[in-house]
Amino acid sequence: MNSSHNSPEKRLKEMLEKLKESDCRITPQRYAVLNVLANSFEHPSAESIHLELIENYPTMSLATVYKTINLLKRAGEILELEFSDLSNRYDGKKPYPHPHVICSQCGKIVDPSHLNLEEITNKMMEETGFKILTHRLDFYGLCSDCQ
Ligand code: ZN
Ligand code: MN
Repeated sequence: MNSSHNSPEKRLKEMLEKLKESDCRITPQRYAVLNVLANSFEHPSAESIHLELIENYPTMSLATVYKTINLLKRAGEILELEFSDLSNRYDGKKPYPHPHVICSQCGKIVDPSHLNLEEITNKMMEETGFKILTHRLDFYGLCSDCQ
């Protein structure tokens, strides 16, 4: 589950398997939402997934996108990034906690790949006596387009 180099095909298969395990019916529309999430590095919002699919699936509703996302959330197969000032964004490629770099101007979100949290986490546990279970680590700035 923690392999970060999953191909879109492999990731799609994993999501489908997990949803089938929890007895979810995979309709063509749900499949299309999963496919976008398995392929997207952009951390899309529900609205942007809907926009991307509406052309090929004219009957696709935003509610269907949200329902599919909720099924994935229940199955632990998607990471939800909540924001107070913009739409929630989703990472279907890496459904486990990991750091993000976020553009305060345009909302672009990127996964930094060379950040080893293991050492930091271990030191933190030593220092605080906490058993660290999860984290949320966001770095804000201006992307190269917005600078
Ligand atoms: Zn930007
Ligand atoms: Mn991510």
